[in-house]
This record gives sequence, structure tokens and C-alpha cells, in this order.
Amino acid sequence: MIYVIDLKTYKILYANKKCIKEFGQVIGKVCYTTLQKNENSPCSFCPLAFTGDSSQFLIDKTFEWENKNSKNERYYSFRAHTALWSDNKEVIINIGVDITEAKKLEKALLEEKNSATASFKTLLDATIEAILIFDENKKCVLVNKVAIELFGYDKEEMIGKFALEFVDSSSRDLVKNYIQLDDKEPYEANMLKKNGVSFPAMIRGHNLLLAGKKVRVSAIIDITDRKKYEEKILKLAYYDILTGLPNRLLLKKYIQTSLQRSHRNSEYNALMFIDLDNFKGVNDTIGHDVGDLVLIEAALRIKNAIRENDIAARLGGDEFVVLLDISKKNRDTAMDSVRIIAQKILESLETPYIIKNYDFRITASIGIKLFNAENLSMDELMKYADSAMYNAKEKGRNTFCFFNPELQKIMEDKIFLIDNLRKAIDSSDISLFYQPQVTSGKNKIIGVEALIRWNSSNGIISPADFIPLAEESGLIIKLGEWILNEAIKQIQLWEIDSEKRDWRISINVSPKQFEDKTFMPTIEAILLKYNVKASKIRLELTEGVLIQNINETLKKLNKLKKMGLSLSIDDFGTGYSSLSYLKQLPMDELKIDQSFIRDIMEDENDEIITQTIISIGQKFGLEVIAEGVETKEQYEKLISMGCKYFQGYLFFKPMSVEHL
Ligand code: C2E
Ligand code: CA
Ligand code: CA
Repeated sequence: MIYVIDLKTYKILYANKKCIKEFGQVIGKVCYTTLQKNENSPCSFCPLAFTGDSSQFLIDKTFEWENKNSKNERYYSFRAHTALWSDNKEVIINIGVDITEAKKLEKALLEEKNSATASFKTLLDATIEAILIFDENKKCVLVNKVAIELFGYDKEEMIGKFALEFVDSSSRDLVKNYIQLDDKEPYEANMLKKNGVSFPAMIRGHNLLLAGKKVRVSAIIDITDRKKYEEKILKLAYYDILTGLPNRLLLKKYIQTSLQRSHRNSEYNALMFIDLDNFKGVNDTIGHDVGDLVLIEAALRIKNAIRENDIAARLGGDEFVVLLDISKKNRDTAMDSVRIIAQKILESLETPYIIKNYDFRITASIGIKLFNAENLSMDELMKYADSAMYNAKEKGRNTFCFFNPELQKIMEDKIFLIDNLRKAIDSSDISLFYQPQVTSGKNKIIGVEALIRWNSSNGIISPADFIPLAEESGLIIKLGEWILNEAIKQIQLWEIDSEKRDWRISINVSPKQFEDKTFMPTIEAILLKYNVKASKIRLELTEGVLIQNINETLKKLNKLKKMGLSLSIDDFGTGYSSLSYLKQLPMDELKIDQSFIRDIMEDENDEIITQTIISIGQKFGLEVIAEGVETKEQYEKLISMGCKYFQGYLFFKPMSVEHL
């Protein structure tokens, strides 16, 4: 009987014919309610009931169902294996043998039923196990039919033989041990047939009194088939199908052993995380079948670059891990050895791949964590090697990095910040400030720029610091949506304010946010929600986003214009947009970057650039606004150059709605 259980949900993912025949259609149902009698929780004997660290559970176990546990009131002996099922789900595969008849027999024997009784004889021959009974001198005194068939002797030949004569030499010491211990647990050993062929068997032995004499009853099952099946399953469970390398599960076992050994011997060993740098490109441009071949080839190259005692595994995708057996007491010499291997791996991965007439290069980034006696858990080890791999990527790829606790600290701070930002979005810690924009002459406010503020528990954090983090983590989508909603809601609130009702609001849109497919629907939905004039909304986009994906961008911009919004190019002059390109864009405003304004009085180049931007604006019929205007001199100079709109500390600082 075979069935597979999801380790997390206890649901049966697979059951073979025998299992379904005995218990009905059980797939999808929870194991202990369908196969066993415990309706409420997994049975105590089941390895699933084990609640500790799941890595401990990697050890395969043997267990039995008593008939009082089993729904169909039969006895089974199982071997349980942890494995990875589809979607990397951790599962238990149980392969069991029905030992009901043998159990009944044992019971009969224990109750010392007369050996001559019919029921005993029937039972003896009904069991699927081979039964051999030995006397005090370990000489065989009784066998059943199955035993005769299994071992290939005549009945008479078996009687009188010593127990160990039925055991293969490879298992004799083991079996001797078990006999002495009188251990009732089932165990596996290799047995020997008359013709000299050995076979794997599961044995359960019992010492007991039979008709007043001390005997040992051995029940033996040939598990050749089960072994074959197990091998197949283990291959599936522990190896990556594509590359044939050990998978995550088997790697865990190796790491555990290696950690223990390092600890015991105080020797350095190392774990490497390898990630191919541009693999996604291959998959996307050439196709997955070529991608698969690349992975197979990469796996081979990694394997060839390491020694026999090192383990290469594949975690999935283009991620590989190498567990290096360095065994050096000295940290520096250990690092030297690792460096050499890392370099070798990088070089071998870098050589051109020639697959199906394609010829291309792929590089890799490697993160390394050295370990020895320090008390490191497996998860920490993996995490540190992974983090070092990120550092290698940041260093420009095609390189390796050792784990660096300082860089790790920076990364952890970053993750912490992102996490806090996520929580802050729905709280009042995040708010919008507004900085007025004025027009020359009357210093009349024509609108405001919305600028986000984060008042975190650790003080005010500048958007210049957290916007990039929000972009990197993808949080910008949610944050950007919040900003749009908040700013547009503000326009609606100002509609009843005679002073502010004509103000427009400039909203900064991050490139990531603009490119996201939710951007257009979000804007549409918010406009509908607050029912404000779209012409009061001005989106500030940077040049960078405008020159990417020209066709897509143009389509979006034109749609926004059609909806009535106006558009501004932020930080103008710092990007790379060409004039011919600018001409095609449906923009309304150029915003001169504040870096040019800052030094406009001293730096002639900045003056020329500013003047040029103002002229371009005039020629193209765009409004030009100068931001970061801090002094009267700057302001007057800008007026003399023909600039009409301004924003800066000279006029107003960004402030909360209440202060406006
Ligand atoms: P930005 O869009 O160029 O915003 C102008 C920055 O200049 C603002 O800094 C503003 O407070 C500051 N500023 C205004 N006048 C002066 C001045 O006279 N002198 C000086 N030295 N600075 C002035 P802030 O608010 O710290 O924002 C920094 C950047 O963060 C912004 O640059 C923008 O790129 C980003 N950001 C701010 N709010 C948002 C937002 O709501 N969404 C997005 N996507 N980005 C935002
Ligand atoms: Ca801006
Ligand atoms: Ca700006």
C-alpha cells in the first residue's frame, strides 16, 4: 500500500490502487480521518505527529499501524520517506506491507495456543510473511509454506539449519545483534536463498515460550520490490529531474552532516550560492527548451569544476549551491582554497555555450559563507551565502563575494525599513506635504507639488531615502496609489475653498509606478471616485521613464492627455532626452532641475543650461518652472531669462495642509 501525505496539511496527495481498494477514494482527504481511526489528530505513532524542527524529520522512519489504529482494522508495516512533491511541497511517502495475518499468528503464538491446533496451522500458512521458528540453539524447528517458497529449500532441508545460514554474510553481524537484543522492532537485512542469491528482507523477531519451550519466531518479508520502488522514489525525491543534481532536500542532509563535522573537527568548510546572471534573458529571448539545455550544461560545468567530495545541488531555476569540503583548520588557507574554486567555477560557466546553433555567454554571481565551529543553523548558513550572492550581483556580477556581516547589516536594515514602510502606508505616519508653486510678478500661488513625508518612530525619513527602497521592493505601487488618492482627494476638499479652488496639484510619479499595468486603471478609478477636474492634476515624470519603451509610453501619455491631465518633465536637463524626441511627447511643462538653479549665479554652464531650457520651453510652447529657488538673486536672474514659474524655499517650504 502506498500513499503520499502533504506534511503541512496532512492531506493525501496520492494513493495507489491497493490503498483506494481498502479505504475508498481518499485522495484530497486528511489521512488520519480517512485511513486511521484518530478522527482529530495524527496518530501518535505516525512520523507526521512529530512537531519539532522539520529538518530533523529528514531521517526516514519505519512504523506500524496496529489494527486498533487502522480504519479497516488491519496491521501494516510502513516505511516513511520525506520527499519533495510537485511545487516543492514537502511530503511523506508511505510504503507499507499488510502484515495482518502474521500479527494474528504472533498473537496466537503468544497466547500459547497448542501448536497442533488447526487455527495455528491455518494462520501459519495464511500469512504472506515467511515464518521460521528456531529453538534455543538457534536451530530451525518449524517453517511455513511461504518460507519454503522464499528460500527455495525443501521443508526437510530447512529444519535443523542454523538461523544465520539463512542470512547473507553482509548482514550476519547485524542479525546476531538483533537476536541477542531481543528487539521486537522490525529491521532490514540481506537474506540468502538456497541458490546463493541474496535478497533484501524485513524481519521481525520474537522470543517466546511455545508449548513450554523457549523459541524465536522470525517473520520475514522479501522487500526486493519495495526497495526497487523506494529507489525510484528516492531518486525523484532527492534529485533534480532536469540536471540530475541533488535537490534542496538532499542538500539539506549534506549540509547538516557537514555542519556537524565542521563543528566536531573545528575545520573550515564553505557553502556557495551560485546564480546565473542573465539566464532569464536566454529563457525569454531564445526559449525555455534552450534554457533547459543551458541549465544542464551549467550543472555539468559546475560539477566538473569541483572535487569528488564537494556537492553540487540545484535549488531550482538558475540557482545552484555547492557545498565545499575544504577541511582546513586555518581560516586564511581555507579562504584561499575557496577562492580558487570560485574562480574556476566562474571561468567554466563563462565560456561560450553553443546550443542548437545559438552561441552565447552566461556569467554567474557567487556568494560564499565559510563556516566552522561557530554555532550556525542550516537556515542561517543558507541565508548568509544567499546574501553574499546579492553582494556579488551588486558588485557587477561575474564575480564572487564572501559573506560580509556589515553588508548583511545594511541589507537587514533595508529589509527592516521596507517592512516598516509597508506598515506605515496605512497609518498616519505617512502624509503628504505641499509646496506652493508661484508665478512671477504677483507671487501668486498657482498650484502645489505634493511631496511625501514619513514620520517614522525613528524620526523623519527623507523620500530621497525611502522612495528608492519602495521602488526596489515593489511597494511603490501601493504607495503611489496612496499618494494619487490622497492628492486627488485634497483637490476635491479644496473645491469649496475660494482661495484654493483653482490650484492644481503636481504629483510625482515614479518610473516603476508609471510602467506598472495598474497605473492607468488606478488613475481612472480615483478620478471617478472624487469626480474632480482632471485638468487640475499634473503628473511629474522624469526623463528616464519617458525615453523607455517609446511606443508604450507615448500611448499612455496620450491617453492621460485625453483624460484631461497635464504632464510635466521633472528634473529636466539631467536626463538624456533628445530634442527630436521631446517634440513627440504631449507635455505641458519642463521643470528645471534644482541642481542648475543652485549654482546659477556662479557657474556659467548652469546658467547656459538654464537659459537653453527656458528657450526650448518657449519654442515648444511649454511652461517652464524653476525649482529649488532659494535666493532673491536667483529669482531675479530667472525672471530676466524669461522664466515665469517658480518653486523654492524663497517662497514657501513644503508644508502640511493645515499650514497652507
Ligand atoms: P523632486 O521631485 O525633485 O522634489 C523636489 C525636492 O526639492 C523636494 O524634496 C523638495 O522638498 C525640495 N525642495 C523644494 N524647494 C527647495 C529649495 O528651495 N531648496 C532645496 N534645497 N530643496 C528644495 P523632498 O520633498 O525631500 O523630495 C525628494 C525627492 O523625493 C523628490 O524630488 C522626488 O523625487 C521624491 N518624492 C517626494 N515625494 C514623492 C512622491 O510623492 N512620489 C514620488 N514618486 N516621489 C516623491
Ligand atoms: Ca518633483
Ligand atoms: Ca525635481
